[in-house]
Amino acid sequence: MQDHQDIRDAVAALCQDFPGPYWQEKDRNRAYPGEFVAALTEAGFLGCLIPEEFGGSGLGIGEASAILEEVHRQGCNGGACHAQMYTMGTLLRHGSTAQKHLYLPDIASGALRLQAFAVTEPTSGTDTSRIQTTAKRHGDDYIINGQKVWTSRAEHSDLMLLLARTAAREVGPKPHDGMSVFLLDMRHASGRGLTIKPLRAMLNHATTEVFFDNLRIPAASLIGEEGRGFRYILDGMNAERILIASEAVGDARWFIEKATTYACERRVFDREIGKNQGIQFPIAKSYAETEAAALMVTKAAERFDQGEPCGPEANMAKLLASEASWAAADMCMQTFGGFGFAEEYDVERKFRETRLFRIAPVSTNLVLSYIAEHVLGLPRSF
Ligand SMILES: Cc1cc2nc3c(=O)[nH]c(=O)nc-3n(C[C@H](O)[C@H](O)[C@H](O)COP(=O)(O)OP(=O)(O)OC[C@H]3O[C@@H](n4cnc5c(N)ncnc54)[C@H](O)[C@@H]3O)c2cc1C
Repeated sequence: MQDHQDIRDAVAALCQDFPGPYWQEKDRNRAYPGEFVAALTEAGFLGCLIPEEFGGSGLGIGEASAILEEVHRQGCNGGACHAQMYTMGTLLRHGSTAQKHLYLPDIASGALRLQAFAVTEPTSGTDTSRIQTTAKRHGDDYIINGQKVWTSRAEHSDLMLLLARTAAREVGPKPHDGMSVFLLDMRHASGRGLTIKPLRAMLNHATTEVFFDNLRIPAASLIGEEGRGFRYILDGMNAERILIASEAVGDARWFIEKATTYACERRVFDREIGKNQGIQFPIAKSYAETEAAALMVTKAAERFDQGEPCGPEANMAKLLASEASWAAADMCMQTFGGFGFAEEYDVERKFRETRLFRIAPVSTNLVLSYIAEHVLGLPRSF
């Protein structure tokens, strides 16, 4: 088992330039941490999964996982840029040679940002087959109509990976047939049928609503074959789950370290609160849960990098890590008492941020349903 300590040390050193007050200010103003994203890009971390022939460093999910875990462990947040790591895989695996040469080197250098991934719609989150955004072929173009919601980072991205229907749900043999993936160049679309509206949320995530009104895009924007888009997106989901799980482990480790330090310093009734087992045990329990989740993340990443099937492990990693980070957040808040609510300690911010992992990109129930049906062979529920 590799721990990639050299990568972790380099990420930790970079994060020192982005301490709590930096994130507090961004959070207060719902501002994009552009300086942090630029620093990660410049250091080559965001291009780590792009093969060397396209200007990236050609590393594996194990290394990418270490990068994102360390970002979160240091109190920073990868949500502003992590999508670049996993959405790029769809282009890499299913894009044409021309598309790869056109985009990947610029994504690796940071000249182009691929941060927006538009799947969810107001009437279809969990059930992707119900998306209503359409892409209709018109000569050398496609015309896009519809609406997306929760499209994070769309205002801070040049490219968007878009899932749209090229055939109605009823047409194909399966509900997920008839969806296609497009690499939409937003630099040429703004004001010509593409409207992006910020969506203020519980956390600072640069998330938006996106409206398509007869947006005309070149047919060359299609990735792979028409109608196979859902399969292409699905291919990238294990990577996404492993990387999100790594962020959750990073958060959990941050909460545990914060709580431990505070419990050793804070004195109540003339003794450190950490002397009370009522304070110690929740921290210890969190530690055990987090270490167990981290082992599953490592197992999933290793299988992924060896090219072995890793659906069960990636899903279990996401489930266990998001539950561990949420339990650690609550434990940390309880250890801090009232000061946990004060902005300057960062606990309340991280508490809000880590809650997301139990819902997005896939909710706990859907992971449990996957394990029940596909791993244990229980009857199909929906
Ligand atoms: C901050 C934020 C950022 C996001 N960023 C992006 C992004 O960049 N791109 C993107 O495409 N999407 C994004 N999302 C959307 C996210 O992926 C969805 O919110 C998520 O997939 C859940 O979909 P939903 O919200 O529509 O919930 P729904 O599908 O409405 O489900 C509601 C609840 O019911 C549960 N449920 C539904 N069906 C079942 C069932 N059969 N059995 C048991 N439970 C069930 C779900 O688990 C969920 O808890 C983001 C969301 C948030 C909050």
